[in-house]
Amino acid sequence: MKLVVASGNPGKLAEFERLLAPLGFECVPQSAFGVQDVEETGLTFVENALLKARHAAHATHLPALADDSGLCVDALGGAPGLYSARYAGSPANPTANIEKLLGELKGRPDAERGAYFHAVIVLLRHEADPRPLIAQGSWHGRILEAPRGAGGFGYDPVFLDTERGVSAAELDPDIKARISHRGRAVDALRAQLAEETST
Ligand code: IMP
Repeated sequence: MKLVVASGNPGKLAEFERLLAPLGFECVPQSAFGVQDVEETGLTFVENALLKARHAAHATHLPALADDSGLCVDALGGAPGLYSARYAGSPANPTANIEKLLGELKGRPDAERGAYFHAVIVLLRHEADPRPLIAQGSWHGRILEAPRGAGGFGYDPVFLDTERGVSAAELDPDIKARISHRGRAVDALRAQLAEETST
């Protein structure tokens, strides 16, 4: 089934392709249809993911998948959270975001550097779908004092997967796709889809 993905982020698109191809979905980015990003005016990850998916479904008349995600840092009261992409201002600049985050946490011991990524994925079967599939996932870890690794995107170089002792940017992409917030949300989505097709 063809699925329009409401994201222009190449890192996320690659992760969705890797995760959803085994489920029989052909992911086509909304940019292939000339669809622009919608304004993210929601106050929750769920609202923003719904806004993005509905916008893509409306423009393409295809089922649409959207995610909204961010990094929530305990010592910063959950910031940057919804505003992760543009934490250091617009246009989005991942290097400046990391510098700002490290500055905010400067001098904090490891015990005060807890953080988690959170992702919400919404699948709308059509624009007016009254019963969207909504799946969520989190990935807990810690913010490093300096970037490590060259892979991934966004905050990956400063997010330590405490279980494995490596940064998200040092992880093999297949492993990251499986254990990350988005991977966990896709697992939850897969379970919902399986239930739906069995009834
Ligand atoms: P969104 O595109 O509105 O969901 O913004 C998500 C932002 O959160 C991204 O631009 C990144 O800054 C950050 N983010 C979300 N997921 C990840 C990840 O897996 N690694 C690193 N940063 C992420």
